[in-house]
Amino acid sequence: MKKSYEVIFENNKKWVESKLAENPDFFKILSASQTPEYLYIGCSDSRVSAEEMMGMKPGEVFVHRNIANIVNTLDMNSTAVIQYAVEHLKVKHIIVCGHYGCGGVKAAMTPQDLGLLNPWLRLIRDVYRIHQAELDAIEDENARYKRLIELNVQEQCINVIKMAAVQERYILDDYPIVHGWVFDLETGKLIDLNIDFEEILKNIQKVYDLTNSEWVMSRTNNKNFQ
Ligand SMILES: [Zn+2]
Repeated sequence: MKKSYEVIFENNKKWVESKLAENPDFFKILSASQTPEYLYIGCSDSRVSAEEMMGMKPGEVFVHRNIANIVNTLDMNSTAVIQYAVEHLKVKHIIVCGHYGCGGVKAAMTPQDLGLLNPWLRLIRDVYRIHQAELDAIEDENARYKRLIELNVQEQCINVIKMAAVQERYILDDYPIVHGWVFDLETGKLIDLNIDFEEILKNIQKVYDLTNSEWVMSRTNNKNFQ
């Protein structure tokens, strides 16, 4: 009897054939190096496929996924990915992408003990606490849930900006820019939350500046004189 996963190898064979039909050197080029312009940090949810929904090809996006697209500097996985993407791949854009209908965010709104998931989901409960006044004022539960998903993206963007590697690379190159997006499962559309990267950077600098410089202020002043 055929095992269900065997279809994956059949698919792979067809994919290799189709790529070679397009370009006989496809894998030669692919294996030579990677120079992605984007780092995508998204949820592990099987319905949110990073490259496919962005129309990107292999080699164009460096990807990190975990439950509810969390960035936490105590998590070696996301920290290493961001550090490598910024310092070595020199990505120009870092995208934190949440999605409506996120089970991780929903679980964090639910008063129950989920064992090992508790410390992870607690990071989303912290987002709720930071924005509690705004969230509690939203009566409709579904609207509140959607807003928490957006605010979670915003807070994870801030966590990316807190990192020294990101701040230092930005001084040198004016990159990377951090973006916050949400994927709407019901329409398939990507929504840009228009995170104001420079403004966030300026606001958090007092506490989170790791560059030992007056760079944000000087950049702001320079712009005023232009
Ligand atoms: Zn999710």
